[in-house]
Amino acid sequence: MNTHTPKVGSVTLVGAGPGDPELLTLKAVKAIRQATVLLVDDLVDDGVLRYARRSARIVHVGKRGGCPSTPQSFIHKLMIAEAKRGERVVRLKGGDPFVFGRGGEECDALRAAGIDVQIISGLTAGIAGPAAIGLPVTDRRHAQGVALVTGHAREGGKAPDWHALARSGLTLVIYMGIARCDQIQRALLDAGMAADTPAAVICNACTAQQRHALCRLDELADTVRREDLASPAVLVVGDVVRSVSRPTALMPLLQIASAA
Ligand code: SAH
Repeated sequence: MNTHTPKVGSVTLVGAGPGDPELLTLKAVKAIRQATVLLVDDLVDDGVLRYARRSARIVHVGKRGGCPSTPQSFIHKLMIAEAKRGERVVRLKGGDPFVFGRGGEECDALRAAGIDVQIISGLTAGIAGPAAIGLPVTDRRHAQGVALVTGHAREGGKAPDWHALARSGLTLVIYMGIARCDQIQRALLDAGMAADTPAAVICNACTAQQRHALCRLDELADTVRREDLASPAVLVVGDVVRSVSRPTALMPLLQIASAA
């Protein structure tokens, strides 16, 4: 039900996908084209903004994990104020707006202020990132499903139940896990996960800077350090990682074999 005066604009939370602008949905492109104001998270690739009209106001909000970020309350106020001025606001978020994107909080704030909110889903990094290295997170030969988990609980929030996750038989896809990879590795091993469970780290997935490494669970943190793998990255732990071919790891063996 629309109870506002005609002057009130709208806000659309748009998932911009994991990086590559070609992974935007058609609906996302349409919303970006129509926007008069865009509030853009920093994980959104600049290439996505090529669809914005020249006259649109583009505001960059949010900073990478660990840096001071635009306070969430400020983002809420800005969205509400712009919508009330009659603007067509697009809130562009990395990946999917409802997967660790604070999209739920933004929706609540907007609805409480009487603003119409639309959601346009995007490809989430935790699915598209593994896919970009040929990793099917729910491959039924290896897993019964997938759990999307945060490696960085909000302040005062509950950490994931690593014990339950370790015994779940699910592929674990861990967002925001780089800074705490030591603790995550230890928690999963303490919970009884096999030391040789395969793991993958995929950084900057679906961008020109994409890099990944494959290792065992008990080598996860060392691999992150040795390979200098940095955020944004997703960690994948589980037998499905066996489906990824290991060109770099196999290379020395192949060289040895052909030399023999
Ligand atoms: N809403 C986003 C997630 C936001 S939380 C989504 O659905 O993808 C931010 C975390 O997402 C990062 O710390 C990282 O774990 C992950 N992430 C986002 N973009 C990524 C990318 N291009 N490659 C790897 N991980 C990414």
